[in-house]
Amino acid sequence: MDSHAVAGVGNIYANEALFLSGIHPARPAGRISQQRYDKLVTALKRVLNDAIRQGGTTLRDFTSGDGKPGYFQQSLSVYARQGKPCPVCTTPIRETRNAQRSTFYCPRCQR
Ligand SMILES: [Zn+2]
Repeated sequence: MDSHAVAGVGNIYANEALFLSGIHPARPAGRISQQRYDKLVTALKRVLNDAIRQGGTTLRDFTSGDGKPGYFQQSLSVYARQGKPCPVCTTPIRETRNAQRSTFYCPRCQR
């Protein structure tokens, strides 16, 4: 299995789940309250379920071409949507990069 694809898919799930639970991606894991952590777990399950229902097997192809996700992209709230309006508050989605990983988030909804 291509480890890049796995890491990338994990990154999509992480970005979306953090958005759904309102957690800023730069927040240290140790500073997330139990309540928010529970919300994050629920959000992650929801994101995974959505991905599977919409044809999760196509996710492995997302790194080809422009590097954006294919099929699953239609339901994404923040991933690869930098500069586009947040579906909740319309604030432009921000992107931060470190190493080879991009993180997408809404600066208003995620604290
Ligand atoms: Zn927002």
